[in-house]
Amino acid sequence: MRDEIPNLIAGEPALPLSGEWLDKLRPADGAHLCRLARSGASDVAAAITAARAVQPAWAERTPVERGEIVRELALLLRERRDEAAEIVVAETGKPLELALGEADAAVQMGLFVAGEGRRSYGRTTTSAMKHRTVLTVRQPLGVAGLITSFNTPLPNIAWKAFPAIFCGNTAVVKPSEHVPASALFFAELALEAGVPAGVLNVVQGLGAEAGAALVEHEDVDLVSFTGSAGTGRWINETAGRRLAKVCLELGGKNALVVCDDADLDNAVRWALSSAFSNAGQRCAAASRIVVFERVYDAVRDLLVSGSGELKPEPVISEPALERMLAAIDRAVANGARVLTGGERVVGPGFRLAPTILEEASPADEISRTELFGPVTLLYRVSSLDEAVALVNDSRYGLTAAIHTASLHRALRFAEKAQAGVIVVNGGTHGSEPHMGFGGVKDSGTGWREAGIEALDVYSDWKIVNLIADPALT
Ligand code: NAD
Repeated sequence: MRDEIPNLIAGEPALPLSGEWLDKLRPADGAHLCRLARSGASDVAAAITAARAVQPAWAERTPVERGEIVRELALLLRERRDEAAEIVVAETGKPLELALGEADAAVQMGLFVAGEGRRSYGRTTTSAMKHRTVLTVRQPLGVAGLITSFNTPLPNIAWKAFPAIFCGNTAVVKPSEHVPASALFFAELALEAGVPAGVLNVVQGLGAEAGAALVEHEDVDLVSFTGSAGTGRWINETAGRRLAKVCLELGGKNALVVCDDADLDNAVRWALSSAFSNAGQRCAAASRIVVFERVYDAVRDLLVSGSGELKPEPVISEPALERMLAAIDRAVANGARVLTGGERVVGPGFRLAPTILEEASPADEISRTELFGPVTLLYRVSSLDEAVALVNDSRYGLTAAIHTASLHRALRFAEKAQAGVIVVNGGTHGSEPHMGFGGVKDSGTGWREAGIEALDVYSDWKIVNLIADPALT
């Protein structure tokens, strides 16, 4: 692990023009890990210039060629998965097994996108006029600004960078300031895999500085953002003002419903992993568990005993941990009861014990805001209609799950729950590389990442109207 994480512009490491650096601490023990470039508007502008310069030549390559280069990158990442995962472990504090799984997920995304090189299907259609052939083709947008969160550093970049460059765009990535090294690793690997210099650039730094400069730059044609709803709203307004395309993948307050006919052991197993894996730092985390009255006490007891067996993982930073503790304190002052956790784990690092609360009102701040940590809330309901109403009583709508033996309840829930992903008898977990992922309401703006839907983000459709013989028209 390098001590200094620079930018990567036009294929070369680039020091911050201001000469300033930021400290990055190791979440597992709070010790210094590395320092990263504190970039500003000039560094961002240099990266955009580099990306713009090579975009036409990159777009000239055929989709098959670009797909092959994307495949090379995915295969190289597979070869170097241990190294990639070790960087992720150091930057996030998550268990190695989880980081390896994420490296593999990023590889799978690359392989899926690579396959589009020999598909990338358009459509042919009819015309009201004779002797016309009409077809649709994808075209790149130009320079893409890709801004990512810290929670799963490799998939977060992979979900954007693979389809962005495959579609013939060039890109400037602004990774989260919490995970600078994994982003640099990915972009350097891209160079090694044959992605031409300048096609994938990285600018490190703070959101309000480097991130905002990327969003505000006139020469960025598309901003694709994964992060919090508040930041997403500002990005939509700012980039939207110049009519840039904006794709937002935002937060969630995901609910998992346990009906009275559910397999309770299965439901509790999924509820625990949905709420607490990755220390709850998942956009799809189950931060609300909605339980039918008849099985409430049994589910509560199983959840509390199950959570006691979990090893607390660190959250990303000290301020994040303090924000969670303060939110729990306010919830308790408002009448919520801590069933387990609620406290910092004594010892080094930024750890919050897996926390379960009950008796918070659905109207309380804690029921309505995303904490992005290992905190989940229990609610009682007496019917499916009540459960659906509670699930939908949120400004978010990313994922939702139901546990039931009833096909009717499952289908009814899938139909009525306001979310981009519904899971029956499983967790509020994300999807696979070939499945479009994204949310409704404040969880996004309707675009989908992954799947071929991702290509719709990074390309525009062009209609080609062919009049083969003008004499016949
Ligand atoms: P965040 O909004 O604080 O930061 C996300 C990224 O945006 C970071 O790179 C940050 O530096 C940058 N940023 C911050 N302010 C900016 C600004 N003014 N202009 C431009 N860029 C700016 O979010 P976070 O704490 O990194 O991540 C947590 C959030 O991300 C949660 O809400 C979570 O649900 C969401 N998330 C969503 C998905 C999804 O697919 N829907 C996936 C992962 C995380």
